[in-house]
Amino acid sequence: MTPKQTPHVLVIGAGVGGLTTAVLLLHAGYKVTVLEAHIYPGGCAGTFYHQKFRFDVGATLAGGFSPGGPHARLAELLGIEWPVRPVDPAWITYLDDRAIVQWAERERWWEEIHRHFPESAPFWKKQEWLAAQSWNISAKDFPWPPRSLGDTLKVLRALEPATLLAAPYAWRKISDLLPAKASRTLRAFLDAQLLISAQSLAHATNALYGSAALDLPRRGVNHIRGGIGNLAQTLAKWGTDRGLTLLYRQKVERLEVKDGRGVRVYTNKKQVFEADAFVANLTPWGLAVLLGEDAPSSLRREVRTRPPTWGAFTLYLGLDANRLPPLPADHFQVIADPSRPLGEGNSVFISLSPPDDPSRAPQGMRAATLSTHTAIAQWQIEESAYEERRAEYTERMIGAAEIAIPGIRQAIRLALPGTPHTFEFYTHRPLGMVGGFPQTSLWRARGPWTGLANVWLVGDSIFPGQSTAGVTLGAVRVANEVLRWLRQEVTSRSWVVSKSIHSAKAPS
Ligand SMILES: Cc1cc2nc3c(=O)[nH]c(=O)nc-3n(C[C@H](O)[C@H](O)[C@H](O)COP(=O)(O)OP(=O)(O)OC[C@H]3O[C@@H](n4cnc5c(N)ncnc54)[C@H](O)[C@@H]3O)c2cc1C
Repeated sequence: MTPKQTPHVLVIGAGVGGLTTAVLLLHAGYKVTVLEAHIYPGGCAGTFYHQKFRFDVGATLAGGFSPGGPHARLAELLGIEWPVRPVDPAWITYLDDRAIVQWAERERWWEEIHRHFPESAPFWKKQEWLAAQSWNISAKDFPWPPRSLGDTLKVLRALEPATLLAAPYAWRKISDLLPAKASRTLRAFLDAQLLISAQSLAHATNALYGSAALDLPRRGVNHIRGGIGNLAQTLAKWGTDRGLTLLYRQKVERLEVKDGRGVRVYTNKKQVFEADAFVANLTPWGLAVLLGEDAPSSLRREVRTRPPTWGAFTLYLGLDANRLPPLPADHFQVIADPSRPLGEGNSVFISLSPPDDPSRAPQGMRAATLSTHTAIAQWQIEESAYEERRAEYTERMIGAAEIAIPGIRQAIRLALPGTPHTFEFYTHRPLGMVGGFPQTSLWRARGPWTGLANVWLVGDSIFPGQSTAGVTLGAVRVANEVLRWLRQEVTSRSWVVSKSIHSAKAPS
């Protein structure tokens, strides 16, 4: 028996969720290996290089860096320096001939509310108060959803009188907070904000979650120097400088299970890695594929019965900066026709690389990422219809972008469309499902459990879901769960851990 040997944790995937868990476990003294299928880290929050442009894959807005935010707290704990700078305004929403400016500065935002939605000040007051309670509790590493008695006790200890006053809103939706006379413009504005931050609309989004999501601009949005992928690169460098093994081009194809526990993984490079604990930076569907016949019945049921999540259609544009008009911000949101459903090119988010970041584009050019929600079923079609649809969506996206940036069409020097198939190919998320689950109910939130004692999910499929800040909060929870499990195993069943460590191959 060699109880002093360090347990080995294997993380599948170097998205922000996987890497954050990895560096936290490394910091706690464990041996950690990350296997990434792609040639760079970041997944949906990565940045790819093409013809001298550095395009953000999906995520472009980075929150969570203000004091108390998840990325800020991680930096404090580990001594990380993020390559970030705050931006204000966060973004501008174009809707019904209006430009609604999402100021980070609270006073300016209130002026904007009075200008555009004078009838709804009580709604925004309530939203602000609920958001404060939600952010306050999230800063306490709130283990939600709770699973054990210990989790429940932690949840109870985190509650304060103000949190208790907010508790009834855990059963309500954002639209329940709206006055009956709320304008169509306000409703469309809220739907558009919630779709990008909670994956659902006001009538369905939980009031506490949605209030925090609507507050994102006020909590600070940042530019990441070099592109959003530099977040994952920063985590990767911090880890590998301190002994993390991070291997690229290693796609895990199978996770083998014995007696209800993961024991080893097999990769496309015909390599085998054994470990004591496994963290899967995957969707439940992605994990089910790796487990195959070994998937526990609960996971099989989940992937059979859960409705699919959203997909994304993206358009990456290389723009001639000299052909663009002067721009009041770098991020824009356009709702082309508020009477039609959002997504599918009718609501588009547009982000341009900052003019002062020369690493993102050749001189005189800017790199832009445009995205819209799309139902993945739209793309399960014949190849000829697929190409036609891709061209049609490209046109819709450019048409919407012209509302915010007149003349953008003439500035285009390079255009690369991305569909759910593209996301599936590059991020290995089955069917290109991205963004995690709609945040409609706190009571049905998904935790990190998989039905296997030593395998956890991390990433935007677990609460609190999507965004780099959201998956960082989830990763803190998962790292704590793994630590607790390893400590229990080492003390109460040290023979199990030491035996598996003994046989674990140290990856080179
Ligand atoms: C179009 C779009 C726009 C978005 N905009 C924003 C935004 O502005 N701001 C924001 O904060 N968030 C945004 N998001 C959401 C955010 O990008 C994600 O929620 C977050 O990045 C997901 O992180 P994750 O940890 O779940 O991992 P993922 O990003 O899914 O990464 C998982 C990693 O695992 C790897 N992997 C998968 N399978 C395997 C395997 N079998 N073996 C080895 N490696 C594997 C993948 O290659 C990938 O690198 C956006 C998302 C999209 C799609």
